[in-house]
Amino acid sequence: MKPKIRIIAKSDIPELLSMRRCMEVIDACMREVSLRNVELPLRWGLKAGSKGVMGMMPGYLGNPECYGIKLVSLFPENSKHGISSHSGLMVLFEPEFGQPIAVMDAGHLTALRTAAASAVATQVLARTDAKKVAILGTGEQAKFHASAMLELQKDIKLTFWGRSKSNAEKIAHRFGDSGYSQACVAPTVEDAVADADIICSVTAAPEPILEGKWLPKGCHVNAAGASIPEHREIDSETVTRSRYFTDYRESCLAQAGELRQAIADGNIDETYISGEIGEVLLGECQGRSDATEITLYRSLGVAAQDLAAAYAIYTQAEQQDVGTVAEL
Ligand code: NDP
Repeated sequence: MKPKIRIIAKSDIPELLSMRRCMEVIDACMREVSLRNVELPLRWGLKAGSKGVMGMMPGYLGNPECYGIKLVSLFPENSKHGISSHSGLMVLFEPEFGQPIAVMDAGHLTALRTAAASAVATQVLARTDAKKVAILGTGEQAKFHASAMLELQKDIKLTFWGRSKSNAEKIAHRFGDSGYSQACVAPTVEDAVADADIICSVTAAPEPILEGKWLPKGCHVNAAGASIPEHREIDSETVTRSRYFTDYRESCLAQAGELRQAIADGNIDETYISGEIGEVLLGECQGRSDATEITLYRSLGVAAQDLAAAYAIYTQAEQQDVGTVAEL
């Protein structure tokens, strides 16, 4: 039998994996991560010329069993040209004969699984009465995070902040016009978060934009930007005022700039991480303990999330015969 591979285009992925279904997939995946039914080498990257980097994210997932690699370019200036800053390919393999079974666009996959992971964290860490959501950033992650928060609850109030007021207004109109939510724009980060129950910090800022002293009591923060150790999107006080959760301890300790800085300054030590989201889901670690506590989910993004989402997309594509099947 000749090996065959299914090629799945970006435009087909939204139909194959909805935000709601992706949240279920990521919920199960994060449990597998915390059970260590995975192999997750740390993400590494190479300089791809003067404008960007290419990240390599290989991994193995025990359930559903599969392995593979995401190859993703990060070109931050792309959005000026209407091109996604994250582009690349996800290559999925099966574990029986070690054959590649699918190759698919990695841009939509990355945005979807990251926002779905924040939604899963929000479900277990935010207050149950949380309704006011601040979104810091106006790019792809901002759009997907707003959709993910709306998937959790329809009647929320979204407040957007962006360094470009017109971009913030555009995204606020888009979500305000959806008919489900109220959406507005805040002039500063401090204003945006002042009465927020949930804060999604999703910018490409290399220096802190979110200061801990602004955080209202009882809020929950999803911090998903600043994926490399040299960058910090949130300051040390945001870390020290929060109960700090993450997706995968090893990558958080190695790659979360604000955590590393707070440790280097002697404010906290490596035991500061309260737990992984998978541990909270498995009941091995307590999530929010009261209505006044500040909780924070630090998302670094792990290959297991890419594999779980890619496997779900592949399975649907097989069932519906979507994509192009090529002989290798
Ligand atoms: P986009 O390029 O689509 O959007 C970036 C956003 O950040 C834009 O709103 C941009 O504003 C804003 N921004 C850039 N620089 C600054 C700055 N110095 N101060 C304030 N705002 C700034 O990127 P994405 O939405 O795809 O990604 C956002 C972040 O999330 C990135 O850091 C990315 O690496 C990270 N990420 C994390 C993942 C994870 O798993 N944790 C997965 C994918 C992405 P403007 O429009 O004005 O340029």
